[in-house]
Parts: sequence; C-alpha cells; structure tokens
Amino acid sequence: MADQALMKQMMDAVDAAHDEIVELCQEIVRVPSVSFGDPDSGDELPAAELIQAKLAKDGIEADIYKPRPNRGNLIANYDKDKKDASPSLLLMSHTDVVPVEDESQWTYPPFGAEIHDNRIYGRGAADMKGTVASQAMALILLKRAGVELDGRLTFATCADEETGGVYGFGWQVENHPETLKADYAVNEGGGDPTHGAAGMIYEIATGEKGRLEMHFHIAGKGFHASQPWRADNAIYKAQELIRRIENYEPEVSVEAEIFGHLDKLAGLDEEVTVDNLEEILERVGKSNYSLASKLRACSRMTLVASMMNAGVKSNSVAENCTIVCDVRSLPSQDKAYVEAQAAKIAEGIDGVTFHVHETSISNASSFDSPFRSNVEEATRAALGNDDITFLPGLTVGFTDSRLVRPLGNTIYGFTPSHPDDDPSLSGAHNINESLGIETLILRTKYHIALALSTLKKS
Ligand SMILES: [Zn+2]
Repeated sequence: MADQALMKQMMDAVDAAHDEIVELCQEIVRVPSVSFGDPDSGDELPAAELIQAKLAKDGIEADIYKPRPNRGNLIANYDKDKKDASPSLLLMSHTDVVPVEDESQWTYPPFGAEIHDNRIYGRGAADMKGTVASQAMALILLKRAGVELDGRLTFATCADEETGGVYGFGWQVENHPETLKADYAVNEGGGDPTHGAAGMIYEIATGEKGRLEMHFHIAGKGFHASQPWRADNAIYKAQELIRRIENYEPEVSVEAEIFGHLDKLAGLDEEVTVDNLEEILERVGKSNYSLASKLRACSRMTLVASMMNAGVKSNSVAENCTIVCDVRSLPSQDKAYVEAQAAKIAEGIDGVTFHVHETSISNASSFDSPFRSNVEEATRAALGNDDITFLPGLTVGFTDSRLVRPLGNTIYGFTPSHPDDDPSLSGAHNINESLGIETLILRTKYHIALALSTLKKS
C-alpha cells in the first residue's frame, strides 16, 4: 500500500489543477493529427511538441523520435537519473485520431474542443487524447509536489495507432526498444464500469483477440452481357461461397478468464461449459444484452464478409469476384488455424482461391500478476471507493499493446471511466466524439495513484 497521506495530498492536487488539465486536453484535441493510412498522414508532430513544451515548463525532459518528418513519438522519463531503477512502469497512449468524414453532421466543430454539458467535444477527445493529457499531467503534478519515486516512470505517447502502429509503437519497438521496455504498462483497452451482481465492476483488459482478413477470389469467364450463356459468371459462382461464410460455425471455447467470473458479473452459480454456454448466453442476454454479446465474442472466432467486389463494366459478365472477410481469432488460434478454416469454406467450389492476411496476432498478459493489485489500489484511490470488483477481460479490437507485449511488459488495457459518465456519449470513431470531464480528472488521479502504488516504497 502506498503512503495514504501522500495519496490523499496528490488526489487533492489533481482537483486543484482541474482547469489546467481541461485546458491541456483541449489544446491537444485542437491539433488535427489525423491518420489516413498514408505513411505521411498523421501530423502528430505538433501534438508531441505541444506536450514536450508543457512538460518542460516543470522540468521534465522528453525526447521526440521522428519515424517520418511530420510524425513524432514522445518518450518522457519522470526522473532521468532513474533510467535503470526498478520496478518500472510505462504509461502508453497515442496522439493520432481517425478522420472526420462529414463535418456537417457534427454539432460542434470536430477540432474545436468546445465544452458543453461538462464534456469536451472533438475528434480524439475519447480516443484517446484525454488519456494523453491525463498521463502528461500525472507526471507534471507529481513533479510539482516534489515526489521522489523509487522505481522508473516512463510516459510514451506515440503516432499511428489508428492505422496499425507501424510509425508509432511499432517503429519505436523496432528501433528503440529500450525506451519502452518496462516491467508493467497500462494502455487503452478497458475501463468502462458496469453494475453486475457484485456491485460496481471494472474489467481490466488483459488480452486482445487477433485480427485477420480472409480474401477469397472467384475466377469465372467473361463475355458480352448480351450472350451471357457464353460466360461463366463469377458473381453467380460466389453464391455458394457466401452461403458457407454466412453459415460458418466457429468452434466454441470457454477458456477466456472472464468465464470464471460470471458469478460476479451476472449472478450465475453454475460452471460455464462448452455444452451449456449457448443456453447461458441466452439467459444473460435477456437482462444484459451487451454483456451476452461480449461473452459471445470472447467464446469464438468471428468471421464476417465485410467487402465484395465483382465485375468492371455493366455490359460485361463478371470475370472475377473478390470477397473480403474480417476475422477475430481467439488467443489459441494462429494464422495456420485461420487458413485451415478458409480452406474448409472454399473446399470443392470450382475456381475459388484464397489467402489470409494477418493484421495483428492475438496476445495477452496474465491477470495473475502483482501489478494487478497496484492497478486495483490506484483505481480505488482515484475514485475514493473501496467497493469495486475487478475482472479480467478480453478486448475484441486491437491496440498498441500487442506491439509492446513481445518486449516482456505486463500490459493491462485499463484507463477507468467515471461511473457518472455515460459511455454511450463518447462516440469514439463516430460523430460528436466527446469526453466527460469527470473521466479526464479521474484518469489523471488514476495515473498518479498508479505511479505511487507501483513505484513508491512506503
Ligand atoms: Zn485508441
């Protein structure tokens, strides 16, 4: 347990710095650091420089690495004389955001960072510039209070998460792994509270499903559309393939850790098995559809056709048809497994070939780590509430954590949202994205409390 007087003093210091924290978040949201997928898009450098200048005012040095001229990965060590101290904790975040499609659909300007109803509105406010601001302010407020940590605290906010991380954490791991290697780390991935059978519950995302694409290609034979019987229409040939994709039955597994905690989540007494899972999901779904849906996603690989392309001209019979499927695999399912599933689907259909492309491998850190109690203590201190249950979760999307886990860091996807903040208002990747200021303040407290619980001997 961290020193309780110091903990209390620091939580109060966050409340006193309320306006400064909000202003920093607004400034970062106003930087249009939009990742389009093009290596030269992103423009995260101005955001990194803004944070670097802010940290410098309180004597915290930060390095900016530039994978491309306009992109920047910022790494700051709280105390540069403690580079080898242990244990070590890494605070992770990303400064890029997804594009704004149709600005006219937004109620407030997407890069205006206007405040309405105690929320900051703007692209990236929720995903995840609020966390960036809270992590920077955690270092600043600790420094201002003159807190000396026994271990090493590193803050890394990088580019390019939204399009795969090649120029962000991926580049950093490849070129400067020593800047990110740490015993423990936290990143986005989990943190919305739910009310379950055991009261308030926070899920700590310990792992992520893999993400792959199956590309099916159906070859036919073209001919002028006025004599279609002389062609072999690739669109018609795709029918059987589409039917099989739609009816694909994935193997079911209850190995994800969350299935061992359904008593607290949903008040179930019986053990969940592969045999009773469907019946349990149906039952849970009646009272809590989103929980049942999440459990379903944690129990199987998902496979869905998401893009289709065929033909080149309306008066020619289609020679080719391509179907792309989005695949989310479980931690035990590798690329070879997914390839075997694609082969089964395509089996015996004339003219079908396929390939599987892997975006991210599934990966996980153990819930059984001493770091877990630090995260739990920090969350309780930040919320001023001891009555919280923590459960392990599997993220069904992917984050930068997958790029850094191979360095050996135990990483939890966990940045808590305030219980009074309605998660449906966050609109991440959507119009009217926004962040509740209560959550922004809570996260600043959480990152400070985490540094104290993990790195300060009492
Ligand atoms: Zn994000």
